[in-house]
Amino acid sequence: MSDIIQLLPDHVANQIAAGEVVQRPASVVKELLENSIDAGATHVSLIIKEAGKTLIQVVDNGKGMSVTDARLSFERHATSKIKTADDLFALATKGFRGEALASIAAIAHVEQKTKQENQDLGTHIKIEGSEVIFQEPCATPKGTAIWVKNLFYNVPARRNFLKSNGVELRHIIDEFHRVAMVHCNVHFEFYSNGSEVLNLPVSNKRQRLVHIFGGKTNEKLVPVTEETELVNVTGFVGKPGHAKKTRGEQFFFVNDRFVKSPYLHHAVTSAFEGLLKDKSYPSYYLYLAVDPKSIDINIHPTKTEVKFDNEQALYAIIRATVKHSLGQFNIAPVLDFQRDASMDLPYEQAKRPISTPKIEVDRDFNPFATEFKKETPNLIDYSNKKIKNNTTTFVSNFKAKKTDDWQALYSGLNTKVTDAPSEETSKLEFESAVNTVQLFDKASAEAEKTQTVYQLQRKYLVTTIKSGLVVVHQNRAHQRVLYEEFRKQISLSNAVSQQLLFPLELTFSVTEIALLKSLEKHLEHAGFNFNGFTDEGVSIQGIPTVITESEVSIILEQLIADMEQEVPDTGFSQIDVMAKSLAKSAAVKTGVVLENEAQKHMVNQLFACEEPNRAPNGKTTFITLGVDELDKKF
Ligand code: ADP
Ligand code: MG
Repeated sequence: MSDIIQLLPDHVANQIAAGEVVQRPASVVKELLENSIDAGATHVSLIIKEAGKTLIQVVDNGKGMSVTDARLSFERHATSKIKTADDLFALATKGFRGEALASIAAIAHVEQKTKQENQDLGTHIKIEGSEVIFQEPCATPKGTAIWVKNLFYNVPARRNFLKSNGVELRHIIDEFHRVAMVHCNVHFEFYSNGSEVLNLPVSNKRQRLVHIFGGKTNEKLVPVTEETELVNVTGFVGKPGHAKKTRGEQFFFVNDRFVKSPYLHHAVTSAFEGLLKDKSYPSYYLYLAVDPKSIDINIHPTKTEVKFDNEQALYAIIRATVKHSLGQFNIAPVLDFQRDASMDLPYEQAKRPISTPKIEVDRDFNPFATEFKKETPNLIDYSNKKIKNNTTTFVSNFKAKKTDDWQALYSGLNTKVTDAPSEETSKLEFESAVNTVQLFDKASAEAEKTQTVYQLQRKYLVTTIKSGLVVVHQNRAHQRVLYEEFRKQISLSNAVSQQLLFPLELTFSVTEIALLKSLEKHLEHAGFNFNGFTDEGVSIQGIPTVITESEVSIILEQLIADMEQEVPDTGFSQIDVMAKSLAKSAAVKTGVVLENEAQKHMVNQLFACEEPNRAPNGKTTFITLGVDELDKKF
C-alpha cells in the first residue's frame, strides 16, 4: 500500500493553531496588547470597530522590529522571547510560544507597520490568510502598529459562532482591564467605534483601579501586603460593606499575568467568612509574585490557568493575609451593613450615661390593614413585602397578645391544606411563624362566598378549582406576571412610575454607565425616570411602582450583569432579556409572607397571563391536583 501520511501545509497548520489561540476578538486584543507590553511600550492605544469583528488595531511606542523580524514575527514558533527550553522556566515576558501573530494572520486581514529607534524607515507588511501580500519600506513612528481586520473571514463557522457585539465587547473590555490593571506604568487608551472608552494615564495601582472601576472604588479598597519566602502578595480587597450583589470584581495576577484559580479564590472568600451578607461577592485585586520555577502557566493555550507547586501553603498565606488586612483596617466594627448614620448617637449624647430605653407598643396597631389599600395602577404593589417579611417582630407582638382574636388568625389552616376550614381546626397553633398576620379573621367569614387561597411554607399558594387543587409557586408566578407587564410596558411605554422625594444617586463604572445609557429609553418605558448621567453615576427620579427604592441599585446591578451576559442586538430580544431580569429581581421571593388579598390577586393575575404555565425561565409556575388523583391517595 502506498504512503498516506502528508505534512499539512503551513497555512492549514496555522489555521488549526489559530483555533486554540484565537477564540474571539478579545483573544486577539489580549495577544496584541501583551506583545506591546513585551516590546517595552509606555503608550498603547487599542482601537476597535464593531466589537473587534471588523477592526482591532493596536498602536504602541515599543522597541519595534527590524525588517527581517517584521516578516519573521508572522511565522509559527517565531519568538524573540525564548531561545532554549530552559528559558521557559524563567519567563519574564507574556509571550513565548511564538504562535499569536502567525495564528492571527491565518484567519484575518493583517497589516503591520513597525520601526526601531535607530532606523530611518520602517516596514509595512500586509498578510491575508497566512499569505504575504506585500512588504515594503514606509515612514512610521518608532514602535509598532498592527491592524487586524475581518477576523475569521475565511472560517465562516467561527465567525458565525461569535456572539453579539455587546457580548464580544464585554470580553474585550475584560481583557483590556486585565492587562491595564497590571501595567500602571503604561498609558493606555481605548476607543470603540470612534469614541473613547477608557483613557488611563500612568499612575499607581490604586489610581489605576479607580480609573478603571470608577471613582467610588477608592474608598472601598483595603490594601493587602505580605512578603513570605514562597510568595509576595500585594494589592487590594474590597471592604465587605461594598461587596457586590452580583459577580464581584475578582482578580488574581501571578507574576503580572491574569490567572483564574478557583482554589485561591476560595482562600480569599474564606477570609471574608462571616463578614459578608448572604449572596454578595467580595471584590479583590491581588497581585502575587512567585518564583517562576514554582509555577506552570503553560497548561492552557490561553494561559489563564496556573499550577502552583505549593498550593496548600499559598492558600494558607493568602487567607491569613486577607484576613489580617481586613482586621487591620478596622473593617470588623462596621460590619453592620444596614447601618444608618442617622442612628448614630450625636456627639453630645454619646457622653451621657446610657439608660435602657422604654418601649411602648401600640398593640392595636396593624401595619397591614391600611398598607394594602394602596392604589396600584398597573401592577399589584407588593412593596410592603419588606415589612411583612419581618415576621419575627410581628409574630412576637402577636404572641404577647393572647386574645381570641389572635387564635382566630389561624382558623382555616390545617396541616392538610386541602381541608376546608372547620370549627375544630380553628384553634390549631402552628409552630412555624409562617402565619400571615390578621390573615383569616375576615377571610374566614367570607370564605364560603369567595375564593380561598392559602399560603404554604411561604412558598406556594394553594387554591381550589372545580376539579381539585391548584398549587402555585409564588415566586415563579410573580415573575411571569411581572415579565409580561414589563414586556408590554417597555414596548408600549405605558408604565406608571413612582416619583422619589429625593433623587437617588448611584455610582457605576464607566462601562456600566455606557450600558445603562444604551438602555435608557427602555428603562424609562419600564417606569424609571432619569435625571441624568455622568461618567460614573446616574441620578434617578422615578422608579417602577413594583419595586422599592432600596432595591433599585441591586436591580440595576443585576440588569447590567444579565445584559452583559447575553445582550442580543435586536431590539426585541433585548426587551425580552430586560423584562426577564427586572421581573426576576422584583418578583416576590420564596419566604415572603403574603397577605390574603395579595395571594388572591397574584393567583388571578397569573391566570390572566398569556402564558401562565411557565415562568420566564421556563420553569413550571403551578400544578393541579385533581380530585381523582386525591381519591387514589385515600
Ligand atoms: P510571542 O509573543 O509568543 O513571542 P507572537 O507571535 O505574539 O509570539 O510574536 C512574535 C514575535 O514578534 C515576538 O516574539 C516579538 O519579537 C515580535 N513582536 C510582536 N509584536 C511586537 C510588537 N508590538 N513590538 C515589537 N515586537 C513585536
Ligand atoms: Mg505574543
